[in-house]
Amino acid sequence: MQERPILLIFDVDGTLTDSAGLTRVAYEKAFIDIYSIANSTKNINPYGLTDPLIFREILKNCNLTEDGFNEQFNRFSKLTSFHLKRELDLSDKPRLHNGIAHLLFKLEQNDQIYLALGTGNVELNARLKIEIHGVNKFFPVGGFADDAEDRTTIIKTAYQRASDYYKIQFSKQNTWVIGDTDHDINCGKAINANTIAVATGVYNNEELESYNPTAVFTDFTDFKRFVNIINNNEIPHTL
Ligand SMILES: [Mg+2]
Repeated sequence: MQERPILLIFDVDGTLTDSAGLTRVAYEKAFIDIYSIANSTKNINPYGLTDPLIFREILKNCNLTEDGFNEQFNRFSKLTSFHLKRELDLSDKPRLHNGIAHLLFKLEQNDQIYLALGTGNVELNARLKIEIHGVNKFFPVGGFADDAEDRTTIIKTAYQRASDYYKIQFSKQNTWVIGDTDHDINCGKAINANTIAVATGVYNNEELESYNPTAVFTDFTDFKRFVNIINNNEIPHTL
């Protein structure tokens, strides 16, 4: 096995978890609480966007102004977390994507591999979504929508926080940003990291290939291929 530290920054929605549409339910319930408007997320594509950016889209969708945006967002975010927790508690549909539980278990056993979250969720929501599956313990640090509205800044924060927490200056060559959308891929490239795209979200392999990540996976059931890729032992997958 390799003798250099490798940092893996994982997205949450569509990458680690399938929250069975409950995030959208929580957003809409929070929006009804504050603005008394139903179906507020209709026609909005939230995939790969950060929570504050999604909230801006919802405001626009409902012809509401962004006046006092931070205050509006904070109120919305608190209520979203409240509803999300309730929805997650009540439903048996949320799940980890295929292969994730085994992948995390195996990665933890490798003392040269370090994990972080890099997600457009506020931290509380990200933690709620993964805690129900017992995998928070794998991610002591991360970058979240509490840190920035812009996903690239979130990923930079995840990298810096992981470097500080683990007390390791990870090389960018050995840093991997892992996600299910073009936004994850573009942010990884923006910090000069390698990227892995996984087709467990809304995009298929061909669509993800078009953004030229370092590698594309259908899902993470092939642990050996994953380890080969992050050790740079395999030629990047092309269709
Ligand atoms: Mg995602």
